[in-house]
Amino acid sequence: MEDIHISSQIKLLTEENLRLDGRKLDELRPIKLEVGVLSRADGSAYIEQGKSKILAAVYGPRELHPRHLAQPDEALLQCVYRMATFSVEERKSPAPSRRETELSKVITEALAPAVFLKYFPRASIDVYIQVIQADGGTRCSSITAASIALADAGIPLRDLVAACAAGKIDEKIALDLSDVEDKNGQSDLPVAIMPRKNLTTLLQMDGVMTKEEFSEAYELAVKGCQKIYEMQREVLIQKYINIQDEVSEEEENEQSNGD
Ligand code: ADP
Repeated sequence: MEDIHISSQIKLLTEENLRLDGRKLDELRPIKLEVGVLSRADGSAYIEQGKSKILAAVYGPRELHPRHLAQPDEALLQCVYRMATFSVEERKSPAPSRRETELSKVITEALAPAVFLKYFPRASIDVYIQVIQADGGTRCSSITAASIALADAGIPLRDLVAACAAGKIDEKIALDLSDVEDKNGQSDLPVAIMPRKNLTTLLQMDGVMTKEEFSEAYELAVKGCQKIYEMQREVLIQKYINIQDEVSEEEENEQSNGD
């Protein structure tokens, strides 16, 4: 997000408006979501969105250290976004970059409105996000994964937060840009929403768009977020169906052992 993008010579769209990976302009990359993937965390999630692969782990509410950071009337939500050294083509330095610090802040701010922080005064809720493989749109995928990891940790939420970007490539508005589209396109507009409340919790823009293009891109990104929200709900519902199945199986086994 830091550089202003300059259109490149790479052609990102075919004559039929198909993208390099075969997607239509309004198509999301294939998404895979999982919850409860880490046994030591209080809540966790994994997302694959195209070639991007990200893990989110939630700890808390727990005692906050250093104590002087504690808020007397609410919990402190702290998200840490990091990219693995092997997550990009050229080895990334393990030292936290300015970009990682910025993304940790914007991800925290995108998630905070959804969390009932007032329920846990003086406590800390920590979200660790590890990008294992980056291929564009990692801030949005991180928000999507972190949100279901918070739900998996049983933290009371007003709503889930779903995130997705839209952008401009070869003069056309397109959904969910991959890395090559982000780098060679004209602009990128990451959006996060709380769909039930109809609230936008993240809105950033990189590059240049006209007012009309901005509106079109924003609407497209919101539609993408709504589709992602359905996937988030499904994976969480499935988790409880699985628990229910396991419990009834155990009960059946106990009964048959008792007979
Ligand atoms: P986002 O991942 O949210 O789109 P950016 O727009 O800053 O955030 O980054 C776009 C993409 O650029 C990332 O998803 C990643 O694929 C790539 N990228 C980011 N940092 C590096 C880096 N240090 N080295 C190589 N590629 C990087």
